[in-house]
Amino acid sequence: MADFPTTARAVIIGGGIVGCSTAYHLVRLGWRDVVLLEKAKLTSGSTFHAAGLVGQLRSNANITQLLKHSVELYQRLEAETGQATGWKANGGLRLACNAERMIEISRQATTAHSFGLEMHLLTPTEAGELWPLMDISDLHGAAFLPTDGQASPADITQALAKGARQEGALIIEDCTVTGVLVEHGRAVGVTTEHGKIAAEVVVNCAGQWAREFGRLAGVNVPLVSVQHQYMVSEPIEGVTRDLPTLRDPDRLTYFKEEVGGLVMGGYEPNPKPWAEAGIPPGFNFSLLDPDFDHFEQLMAQALIRVPALEHAGVKELINGPESFTPDGNFILGAAPELRGFFVGAGFNAYGIAAGGGAGKALAEWIVGGQPPMDLWPVDISRFGRPHQSTEWVRSRTLELYAKHYTMAWPHEEHASARPERVSPLYAVLRGQGACFGEKLGWERPNWFAAEGQEPRDIYSYGRQNWFSAVGEEHRAVRERAGLFDQSSFAKFLLVGANAAAALDWICANDVNKPVGSLTYTQMLNRKGGIQCDLTVARLAENRFYIVTGTGFATHDFAWIARSIPAGLDATLVDVTSGTAVLSLMGPRSRDILAAATPDDVTNAAFPFATWRAITIGGAPVQALRITYVGELGWELHVPSEHALSVYRRLWAAGAPHGLANAGYRAIESLRLEKGYRAWGSDIGPDHTPLEAGLAWAVKLRKNLDFQGREALLAQQARPLGKRLACFTLDDPGVVLLGRETLYRDGERVGWLTSAGCGHTVAKNIGYGYVRRADGVDDEYLKAGSYELEVAGKRVPCAFRRDPLYDPKMERVKA
Ligand SMILES: Cc1cc2nc3c(=O)[nH]c(=O)nc-3n(C[C@H](O)[C@H](O)[C@H](O)COP(=O)(O)OP(=O)(O)OC[C@H]3O[C@@H](n4cnc5c(N)ncnc54)[C@H](O)[C@@H]3O)c2cc1C
Repeated sequence: MADFPTTARAVIIGGGIVGCSTAYHLVRLGWRDVVLLEKAKLTSGSTFHAAGLVGQLRSNANITQLLKHSVELYQRLEAETGQATGWKANGGLRLACNAERMIEISRQATTAHSFGLEMHLLTPTEAGELWPLMDISDLHGAAFLPTDGQASPADITQALAKGARQEGALIIEDCTVTGVLVEHGRAVGVTTEHGKIAAEVVVNCAGQWAREFGRLAGVNVPLVSVQHQYMVSEPIEGVTRDLPTLRDPDRLTYFKEEVGGLVMGGYEPNPKPWAEAGIPPGFNFSLLDPDFDHFEQLMAQALIRVPALEHAGVKELINGPESFTPDGNFILGAAPELRGFFVGAGFNAYGIAAGGGAGKALAEWIVGGQPPMDLWPVDISRFGRPHQSTEWVRSRTLELYAKHYTMAWPHEEHASARPERVSPLYAVLRGQGACFGEKLGWERPNWFAAEGQEPRDIYSYGRQNWFSAVGEEHRAVRERAGLFDQSSFAKFLLVGANAAAALDWICANDVNKPVGSLTYTQMLNRKGGIQCDLTVARLAENRFYIVTGTGFATHDFAWIARSIPAGLDATLVDVTSGTAVLSLMGPRSRDILAAATPDDVTNAAFPFATWRAITIGGAPVQALRITYVGELGWELHVPSEHALSVYRRLWAAGAPHGLANAGYRAIESLRLEKGYRAWGSDIGPDHTPLEAGLAWAVKLRKNLDFQGREALLAQQARPLGKRLACFTLDDPGVVLLGRETLYRDGERVGWLTSAGCGHTVAKNIGYGYVRRADGVDDEYLKAGSYELEVAGKRVPCAFRRDPLYDPKMERVKA
């Protein structure tokens, strides 16, 4: 190829909808020299055989925004490019066949309202009027999203490609990318069957090949291929062009109109993986053999819903493989392992719906050097060690596929690929009735069953079976003491002559304090958004110990490592596995610790926000005096091999004081009362410490520069457009779960970012940002009268200015 490019600003691998959308948006953001390489023809991966339903609602506001962007784009793309797209805004209908599902869709409608998306609840008759061919005899109700729609996947993709070419992108088909050029930990180009291309940025949009392709660069893309089938019927009388798309989760199926007939597919409980030994070469514009026997279970359900299908001929049964992920969310963003390498893959059979918005977000991430908004649910750095294993990824992914249409219960845990990562206390805590949850492969006690109670979650939309057990643990921590196994915390060491200088820049709080100090701090992005929320202990002059949440191990490590200013001597090491953590919390914790250690743990010798090296039995322990539950307490960081003996000694010392085991659900209830923020829900890259009420933890008044400072100073000079606030609701019959819509004086101002029950204050507690373009201050917050929309119903709630429990921190700092 004589005119084959040798350099590019960005090379995109993959000519499916996601690659084409990324190219389209990159050139629209002004990037030139964008090259897209496709090993066969555009759309020849999964895109050409998609059914084309475009739904928008997700459980996260920003991901819903992305899908809304897809719809806005698809509406105008044909006019913009002259290429037909098959876009039709015929709306989307979702059915409920039982009372619990009705609650689920009512809560989804509330979530939609929170995120500014129109969604109406309908009676069975109203649903039947929109979809006359369906049997409504088993319906409890339905929900309708008028702005959902459907598109022709191949046409949409060709339109995006055309739009990209119109602005200068170069799209080359029949060109396999064979490798990634890496220099000094950075992707600097690709090798292809036609030659090398040097590039500033490499973007992996290789669909179900993305895992294999990522491996070429040492980047983990946790997805696997799963077979997905739908049938296309001959025309059916009564199927009109404006028929909304239909999702019937209780019957595991979906429908859409296609040339006067119906497309019908679904999610079977026994999915079939594909290409376990690798995707065969040349698999483009290819389908798998239809599996009528396997599809029969879905057909049986569909016939009950749409009896007219019985007499309609089946034109074809499509069996196409698609990439699915272990949490059902797609994979986007900057690879934590390699600079200059981005990923957009793993679209779980909603890549047509997501493609427009995901391509936009990825392009903005590439151009801006940081995500355009908080994209944590889809961020590639949400994964960790278990996701290296394809076996682990496959078994969890198949479970998630099978659950696609099952009830998404509050607090639901998954069963597959467990147990995998266990703390040294796992067996002992199991013996004591622990009911475990899983995070990043780690088994963590969620709650402890009482004598005679089975340690098993029983899900519902009401109070679940563990509620009173968690109440007991909560009270034990408030009144006596509780012991939590938090060994799954991610722990890093930052070492080197310039470690302090590096943290001066990276941390929003001042962690450059004497050896022995312990500091709670955020790390901010350039916009002042909270990128990490963690604690830093100064172990020695040139040695810092950093502790962060289990789920943030990959993300926070990458953020810190990449934020170390060039030229500084500071090395970050992950030491998670070597250290177990026992958190001893509660008013009796000092008595218990004093009985277990010969060291001085009085307030004078061991004040709040310090750490000390102590011993418990034969174990060297780093004791960190800190709390996330609002009580006097210590995190005891113990070499893993000593964890069991330390646990036993604490347990023995605690017996006279009523020490109790406690789990993560009690932590949640305790921290809600105390007003501690949770990263990923209350705080994140979209929220600054000023908006989140965390200005007290920022060194703005000290004349020290740090990442994000400029943005905070600028924000300080103007009214805040949003503020995190606490609300309570007394009615014990209402269960708050988060995402409930918040109204101030009748006007929608936000939604709850986290919520639950505070067992000491005996109230439902919710946190949420109150938004107002003209600014939100204390007066504005206090003057409002508030309501929450919960599952479609408005209930009054009260604004609370101070933490509900121990606002002056007297119990913590005693
Ligand atoms: C049966 C079925 C029904 C579906 N229905 C829907 C639906 O109704 N709604 C919806 O939103 N989604 C649906 N989907 C999902 C949708 O099809 C996918 O999510 C989407 O097409 C993924 O697009 P992509 O660009 O990520 O991947 P792909 O379309 O697979 O594109 C990846 C491309 O990368 C190329 N490539 C790979 N490796 C290399 C390399 N080394 N060098 C160069 N090129 C390379 C491949 O050839 C391929 O063309 C469905 C999927 C299936 C299987």
